[in-house]
Amino acid sequence: MKILISSCLLGEDVRYDGANSSIAFNPKFPFSSKELFMDILCENEIYSFCPEVAGGLGIPRNPAEIVNNNKPFIVKDENGTDVTINFLLGAKKALDICKEENIKVALLKANSPSCGNIKIYDGTFSHNLVDGQGLTARLLKDNEIEVFNEEQLRELSKFIKTNK
Ligand code: SF4
Repeated sequence: MKILISSCLLGEDVRYDGANSSIAFNPKFPFSSKELFMDILCENEIYSFCPEVAGGLGIPRNPAEIVNNNKPFIVKDENGTDVTINFLLGAKKALDICKEENIKVALLKANSPSCGNIKIYDGTFSHNLVDGQGLTARLLKDNEIEVFNEEQLRELSKFIKTNK
């Protein structure tokens, strides 16, 4: 199965701070999760994608949060610069790839203003998580693409098995 995966989860240094969120090398994940992740990588066709870089933002970049999570969306970085258009562009490019390649499922980084599928930071740069979705996760879900995060590898694996 084709799977779109957040580049940072694959170990690519694309995060705002120039680092990555590698599942394989993160000590917080038990070996069983890493093993499952590696099985998913080996048994499927992986499309690595970072919406924020695709949307024109650099590495490193200032951290950004969603200030208004309903249309009109507003995303600002910690200096108050409006980066909404970059986030919208990245989301659109993610959807374009999914449509072009017939990708029906994505594994996206939790809590990100682009990739988060359940929680996002509240827009005050206070480390407070609230219910909500990043702009890319939201657009993919709105277009019937299933989105899982790195805490949901078992659910993703089950989805793959039942939709082969
Ligand atoms: S936008 Fe998504 S893929 Fe890119 S660094 Fe942030 S969480 Fe990772």
